[in-house]
Amino acid sequence: MDCDGYHELILADLEGDLPPDESAQVAAHLAGCMPCRNARALEAEFAVLLRRPSRIVTTPDPVRQRVLAALAGATHEPRALRRFGLPAAVALLTLSLGLMLLRGC
Ligand SMILES: [Zn+2]
Repeated sequence: MDCDGYHELILADLEGDLPPDESAQVAAHLAGCMPCRNARALEAEFAVLLRRPSRIVTTPDPVRQRVLAALAGATHEPRALRRFGLPAAVALLTLSLGLMLLRGC
């Protein structure tokens, strides 16, 4: 088996999901393969990071209330669209009509 084949076994071994004979096979491969040892070390470090408690910070209530109030007062139409949407539509329509007249449509 090549190193790619061992990758899944290394992950399973880290999780403790391998039977003893396969775990011994992985250990034997790791003993002679630096890239797989490095990959195993990275996976082990990643697993530790995943198990850490999250660092989610809740927004202070006054800030949350201000954001919710601002969102409640906002329109769904972006400001740029409100400012330039109608003039752009009129210009596009005028241009289209002009082109149609020039082409004789
Ligand atoms: Zn290897």
